[in-house]
Amino acid sequence: MNLQLLNNLSLKPYNSFGIDVSAEQFVDVHDDAQIREALHYAEARQMPLLVIGGGSNLLLTRDREGLVMRMASRGVRIVSEKGTQVVVEAEAGEPWHPFVVHCLELGLVGLENLSLIPGTVGAAPMQNIGAYGVEIKDVFHSLTALDRQTGEVRDFLGHECAFGYRDSLFKQHLGRWLILRVRFALSREAALHLDYGPVRQRLQEQGISEPTAMDVSQAICSIRLEKLPNPAELGNAGSFFKNPVIPTAQAQALKVRYPGLVAYPQGDEVKLAAGWLIEQAGWKGFREGDAGVHRLQALVLVNYGHATGRQLQSLAVRIQADIAERFGVELEMEPNLY
Ligand code: FAD
Ligand code: NAP
Repeated sequence: MNLQLLNNLSLKPYNSFGIDVSAEQFVDVHDDAQIREALHYAEARQMPLLVIGGGSNLLLTRDREGLVMRMASRGVRIVSEKGTQVVVEAEAGEPWHPFVVHCLELGLVGLENLSLIPGTVGAAPMQNIGAYGVEIKDVFHSLTALDRQTGEVRDFLGHECAFGYRDSLFKQHLGRWLILRVRFALSREAALHLDYGPVRQRLQEQGISEPTAMDVSQAICSIRLEKLPNPAELGNAGSFFKNPVIPTAQAQALKVRYPGLVAYPQGDEVKLAAGWLIEQAGWKGFREGDAGVHRLQALVLVNYGHATGRQLQSLAVRIQADIAERFGVELEMEPNLY
């Protein structure tokens, strides 16, 4: 066997919340052969299998029976180049932000607004990661995934992935598709997206009037470093709730009651800033034991050290109930609970 299995391993270093649960067995997989071997190993022993990447979109609520398989495959390559259009492929275990920087260094535009998102390339399509007005669906070419039910490997084009707001086919069928590698359609001269939140203003403050994609990436990194807790210092999984999308009439009625409501059109409906709702309800900075709501960003739940997954989950449930009662709006959790 080529697998280096570890027994009774603490998962604390493998999830950005820093939750201290254990895995009965744990393995890093570096290529397709090891992935198949690990799948066979778990299947032959009828062990539950949890696939993780960077562990930055998980809330672990109990010790894991069975096998935890961490995607550790590496490799980035240009697979086609036509004029200014370039398709880049990356293995699932590639860390996301270094991959973004690598593409920018190659002079490729498209991923800059998604800078500094933790995690891996393979997990990025799971919730169609998005930030500052760009989602990966906007630069997605295709991906290769292994069907855990049949063992078949197949390619998916963008329209086959059911990408939605923090959503995809792969999230809807959680645990079925194992993403092996992802391809991105980038460009040597695409337009930049500067009109979201404080991006343009930050560039102006830096005296940059004609930004490059690298400038945009660096501006976004500086904004994110100011606003978001670094998981290495304070456990968190980024936004804990999705921004709720509600009917326009409901949003208009809420706006009458709460003139400061932060809302954006989203198709025929309206997207509310969940962070604003949670802050209005007085949860910002709340702490009970080691589970809390970040003091600067109410959308982010934090682990001050020894919070358990269950404590964070029960805090999230209390917040959901409070927001439903005050505003009549359902908040959906964004991280995957295991
Ligand atoms: P994990 O947490 O390891 O896994 C997430 C899910 O994907 C799990 O269900 C897992 O089983 C599954 N999975 C992982 N790899 C694979 C694979 N190869 N094949 C099949 N299934 C797989 N998200 C955003 O969208 N935008 C942001 O701006 C953003 N900012 C963040 C900031 C911070 C500080 C943090 C902590 C998180 C943030 N996130 C953001 C959330 C998170 O970083 C992303 O969702 C990221 O893509 C998760 O990647 P991961 O490798 O850590 O996935
Ligand atoms: P922000 O800029 O303070 O904005 C608050 C909310 O308003 C965001 O959630 C954003 O929605 C929305 N918004 C702001 N400007 C908008 C516009 N011009 N059009 C439409 N919607 C707009 O948000 P932030 O917390 O600092 O995060 C900045 C970006 O990084 C956001 O895109 C956010 O989604 C992303 N982010 C995501 C995570 C995560 O874990 N998912 C964590 C940190 C940051 P959207 O969220 O829909 O963009």
